[in-house]
Amino acid sequence: MKRKPIFAANWKMNKGASETEDFVKSLLSKLQGKDIPADIVISPPFISLPKLADLLHNANAGQNAHAIQIAAQNCSQHDSGAFTGEVSVMMLREFYVHYVILGHSERRSIFGETDEVINAKMKKALETNLKPIFCIGETLEEREAGKLESVLRTQVTEGLKGLSNSDMSETVIAYEPVWAIGTGVTASSDQAQEAHAFVRSLIEELYGSEIASKVRIQYGGSVKPGNAAELMACPDIDGALIGGASLEPQSFLEVIQNGSEG
Ligand code: PEP
Repeated sequence: MKRKPIFAANWKMNKGASETEDFVKSLLSKLQGKDIPADIVISPPFISLPKLADLLHNANAGQNAHAIQIAAQNCSQHDSGAFTGEVSVMMLREFYVHYVILGHSERRSIFGETDEVINAKMKKALETNLKPIFCIGETLEEREAGKLESVLRTQVTEGLKGLSNSDMSETVIAYEPVWAIGTGVTASSDQAQEAHAFVRSLIEELYGSEIASKVRIQYGGSVKPGNAAELMACPDIDGALIGGASLEPQSFLEVIQNGSEG
């Protein structure tokens, strides 16, 4: 099954509106005339979404620009009300947001998001046609204790609880070993492929083989221009969620190009 790879820049808490503008102008000029067989997504901080939406809406309307889609880094599981500091899915929709990253390990470990909260956010996003980029992954301690599969199984079954087949068809999964995020240490292609194949088998158990064969599973964790091709050549890896290397237009572009060549 040929799946279109998806490369998503997760800027985390980097780049306000003016840096977003510089980045996007530079990336768009580098993409000019290139036909890249991959989906490209940028996920800035909330505060930069209006600027990004403005820039991309104009650019994507132009004929030669590679369409870039927008992701939010989080959303509330609530529609509105007394939730200071939160942002609802309907607010995101106003800025052409197509995807939302949910369950990132930083949200889990720093902000205490549980599988239950993540599941509620998944459902809220899908209700309004936002596509979740659902992140899962084990810590080094868990891997070394032989708990890789049980951790992934729990995150997948709890995070996706109650999601229908059509919800699953709209969902992208990002396997991100926590020990590889922002550390410069990347999972070897064998380690990554093994985990991705296992995650796909879990989706098959829950949703059947057709949906499992179509679901895109990104790898995340210190992806760089130099390792993208080898990782993306693995049969169950369908793109990447990229932190550090997505902060410069040139390295983001090189990850995308190197990773989508195979
Ligand atoms: C991430 O934030 O999801 C990530 C994978 O970061 P990095 O590429 O910097 O490891």
